[in-house]
Amino acid sequence: MRLVTFASGSGGNCALLTLDGVHILLDAGISWRRIRAELERSGVGPEELSAVLITHEHSDHIAGLGMLVKHCAAPICAPRIVARQLTRTVAGAAARLRVFTPGTPETVGALRLRCFPTSHDTAESVGWRVEGSAVFALATDTGCVTPEIREGLRGADAVLIEANHDPDMLRFGPYPAYLKLRILSEHGHLSNPDCALLARDLAENGTRCIVLGHISKENNRPELALQTVRSALSSSAVEICCAPADGFLALPVGKEGLC
Ligand SMILES: [Zn+2]
Ligand SMILES: [Zn+2]
Repeated sequence: MRLVTFASGSGGNCALLTLDGVHILLDAGISWRRIRAELERSGVGPEELSAVLITHEHSDHIAGLGMLVKHCAAPICAPRIVARQLTRTVAGAAARLRVFTPGTPETVGALRLRCFPTSHDTAESVGWRVEGSAVFALATDTGCVTPEIREGLRGADAVLIEANHDPDMLRFGPYPAYLKLRILSEHGHLSNPDCALLARDLAENGTRCIVLGHISKENNRPELALQTVRSALSSSAVEICCAPADGFLALPVGKEGLC
């Protein structure tokens, strides 16, 4: 398994997961030009993508989708309400959508994929779990950790989860009050301490590699997110790292040597 993050955060989200030879794009929230360049840097052609998984319709997750559907034939996987929104807002998406029901696994190549609901301020939002010879799961853009999220992530070898903000940096930071309330709400974004509790649960259930993502540039620092999560874990055997906002992070994730 290999995970390459191209971008993570409110400026755009996009990552490439390769598992058992199957290439899957996770969100498409940066320009198609950047996606294509990062794919090339990763040694994967657009025609080699087997699926594009969409978490929700916020622009930092789908900004490049309109151009992507013109240049890449991979199916666009999304749950029903997100799919309906994409049909309306992304020209050419309708013919390419593959609609998933949260909780119901489907196969893509040799992999089993399923989505699970997250708690965010959209009509629908999901995380994704990808199972093959190893298991990867992703959950960002969620104001709280629900039982469905815990279940969707638990037992995964590697996860990409959200450590969006430090609560004090957000409270005393420059954002307007309404935005602070939105981010802090159950339908906003996950804080470092909530992420740390989740990470502890995942580590106790076998997860060996935790990538922290969607880290706020204004209300967090990668070192602070890392420190908060690391201090919650009793085992140092778990690898933790931060997905850069704009940069490239490539992790070979195997059964033994992780991250
Ligand atoms: Zn987002
Ligand atoms: Zn969002």
